[in-house]
Amino acid sequence: MSNSIQANLAFDQQHIWHPYTSALDPLPCYQVSGAQGVYIHLATGESLIDGCSSWWTAIHGYNRPELNQAAKVQIDNFSHVMFGGLTHQPAIDVCRKLIEMTPCGLERVFLADSGSVSVEVAMKMALQYWACQGSPNKHKFITPRNGYHGDTFAAMSVCDPVNGMHSLFTDALAQQIFAPAPQTRFAQTWNEDDIAPLEELIQRHHNELAALVLEPVVQNAGGMRIYHPEYLKRARQLCDDYGLLLICDEIATGFGRTGKLFACEHADISPDIMCVGKALTGGYVTLAATICTEDVAQGICQGDPGVFMHGPTYMGNPLACAIANASLDIIATGEWQQQVFNIEQQLTTELSRCHELEAVADVRVLGAIGVVECKSAVDVAALQRKFVAAGVWIRPFGKLVYIMPPYVIRTEELSQLTQAIYDVLA
Ligand SMILES: *Cc1c(COP(=O)(O)O)cnc(C)c1O
Repeated sequence: MSNSIQANLAFDQQHIWHPYTSALDPLPCYQVSGAQGVYIHLATGESLIDGCSSWWTAIHGYNRPELNQAAKVQIDNFSHVMFGGLTHQPAIDVCRKLIEMTPCGLERVFLADSGSVSVEVAMKMALQYWACQGSPNKHKFITPRNGYHGDTFAAMSVCDPVNGMHSLFTDALAQQIFAPAPQTRFAQTWNEDDIAPLEELIQRHHNELAALVLEPVVQNAGGMRIYHPEYLKRARQLCDDYGLLLICDEIATGFGRTGKLFACEHADISPDIMCVGKALTGGYVTLAATICTEDVAQGICQGDPGVFMHGPTYMGNPLACAIANASLDIIATGEWQQQVFNIEQQLTTELSRCHELEAVADVRVLGAIGVVECKSAVDVAALQRKFVAAGVWIRPFGKLVYIMPPYVIRTEELSQLTQAIYDVLA
């Protein structure tokens, strides 16, 4: 390793926070010099096949000409203007596309600057909706355990209370109601008992509940659990029966990742409020959106103060919207369907071999998501080092070694990822 890279990494270690990392004893970090297609290039010369799509975002691969072009055109025109009292073509286009592609009934788009903020906005919309209906007592949320919805305070309050950060912030967090996580797996026969605890809790608490918040079909960072769509269908019905709004967090699952454009489509339902983010800009810049029904929008704005009380400084950032438009245009070609289908087939075949390994407890696949769950927590630093040596970028957490590669990955490249998982766990 050259002296300048060493000096960089030393500075980084002493002064820069990384996600979920100790400032005293940080995990090793690798300096990136470039990225192209499904490859991340390290400053030390290695090239790694990316198994994470940079946390669900880079679905079309890095350095994609259409996205680069959209960014360049927009940057030479204007990068940002305030969204209060001003609007522009990139925002109008992205909102029109989102309304067209999301499940029916979702008509009003709030552009947010990150996934967590879009969840804050969704929860605030639900609270303000009920306050304006004269039901300010409906101010709590119910959510299944094992969820993950972001790191800001309202979002944190609906994350899994055990593997989330509840114990640290108990007194500062809003107290929500937790239902058991769905148990019936995606391809199993639906078990009617699976919905009973949610129904019972909603029955008992509906007078104080504003909304049910969940990740449709795949619970992501809270455990990579893939559950039966019937649970989602029944959850929608329960919300209708008991007067709750349904908030679907599609930040990880949206834009084709699970084999449907949105995971809600597995159950053929529409939420009252939906959050999207992550892959929205194809992994280029941060942008998210909260999309609600006309009923929710009307309900919020008919009561006092007559406006929705939220407005980020960089709301509707034109540069982000322009790139999102280019990414959504690639999605609109429909090529993702064959790509995700092929990835699902290949992951199912190649990861199933991991069942034979002593360390492995479970293997599960849906769309372009492959999960190998170990019997005990893995040594992240050690595994990461072995993965880098094998020419792949895979970042495990807890007991989970999982991949969600860019849709454009080729067969041989995906085999290299699955082979590395097998070899490293063997
Ligand atoms: C990543 C994620 C979030 C948070 O998004 P950020 O952009 O990191 O704030 C929220 N919900 C789900 C389901 C996510 O996967």
